[in-house]
Amino acid sequence: MTHVGADRPRTLTVVGAGVIGLCCGLAAADAGWRVTVLTDPGTPRAADVAGGMLGSLGEGHPGEDALLEITADSVRRWPTLLARLDDPAIVSADDSLFVGVTAADVAFLTQLARFVWSKAVDESVTTQSGLRQVTGREIRELEPSLGPRAIGGFLASGEGAVDNRALLAALETRLVAAGGMVRAHRVDSLTDLPGDRILVTAGLGSSKLVGGIDLYPAKGEILRLSANAWSVPGPRHVVRARVGDRMVYLVPRRAGIVVGATQYEPIDASDMAPRVSGVADLLADALEVMPGLGTYDLAEAGVGFRPCTADGLPVVRAVDDRVILACGHGRNGIVLAPWTSHRVVEILDETGAN
Ligand SMILES: Cc1cc2nc3c(=O)[nH]c(=O)nc-3n(C[C@H](O)[C@H](O)[C@H](O)COP(=O)(O)OP(=O)(O)OC[C@H]3O[C@@H](n4cnc5c(N)ncnc54)[C@H](O)[C@@H]3O)c2cc1C
Repeated sequence: MTHVGADRPRTLTVVGAGVIGLCCGLAAADAGWRVTVLTDPGTPRAADVAGGMLGSLGEGHPGEDALLEITADSVRRWPTLLARLDDPAIVSADDSLFVGVTAADVAFLTQLARFVWSKAVDESVTTQSGLRQVTGREIRELEPSLGPRAIGGFLASGEGAVDNRALLAALETRLVAAGGMVRAHRVDSLTDLPGDRILVTAGLGSSKLVGGIDLYPAKGEILRLSANAWSVPGPRHVVRARVGDRMVYLVPRRAGIVVGATQYEPIDASDMAPRVSGVADLLADALEVMPGLGTYDLAEAGVGFRPCTADGLPVVRAVDDRVILACGHGRNGIVLAPWTSHRVVEILDETGAN
């Protein structure tokens, strides 16, 4: 069970310092491994732009039963990770409010809720968070920042959000404090890498390093708004609104709001510019549910690529007796980080004894 050999700690080289690499690196360091993270400064990481929502029940979709199970499991692991990181700047909201602006929007959200409630037979899906229906009046009591257009929806208790950038900074700080290292270095082949074990967490870049995995990018635009002296107070919940046939979310930050996110196929890997139509849709939908949003400053329009798999599930497994792979987290990499690091340490336990 222990990772520490008789003569020296066993060494783990992690490729990629995204949320998955850093979280797994920290968990491995805590389990006694000497961890070095190598990361390509020229490849942007999805977690730098992400909204940071820790959603599971609130975004359970029919057919995604396995994903719902692991996200719910991961949500239960978040309090332990937050206690380990011990940084009050990380959590930006505790609960999520799902709202619709038309009867059809509320009907759509109700269909998703029914799917989650149908899973209530499985206790592992329901123990941490609750999902309950709320009226328009309750929505305004819970969230005074929202306008009268939100006519009904659901409260997902315990589905909060983290400040993604504060999280990444804290993970790296704790990893280094635990004896780990993070070095800027692009890896083109695993063959000559040092380390008793290699963990590939290179996001979309993982399929260039390990054969046989099929990842595709889903481009997402996301906006960062900052409060000025005239801004109205922002939301206290994560607000996830269905407006017509689109979803928009408003995620509270200490001094602003994150508004996200679009999702579509990029033209190619250099398609990193926010498109006017995407930004316009996000702002129009966000203003529909929170008219006071217009008092904020537009600080940033960002783009990231979600590393997606065909079945929507992350790939976390041993490739051989030296290499482990953890990638393909799609739209859920932040929420799934503690589940992934737990699985990776289990795999290191299983394969680390020789
Ligand atoms: C707009 C948007 C919003 C999102 N919102 C949320 C959300 O609210 N909640 C949520 O849970 N998830 C969200 N996600 C998804 C989440 O950001 C990703 O699933 C997650 O960041 C993936 O983490 P990762 O560590 O696998 O990859 P990345 O964060 O992309 O990190 C990969 C790392 O590997 C490095 N790398 C790549 N190739 C190499 C190489 N050859 N050698 C060395 N290093 C290499 C990169 O430089 C990078 O540091 C969002 C994503 C987007 C784009």
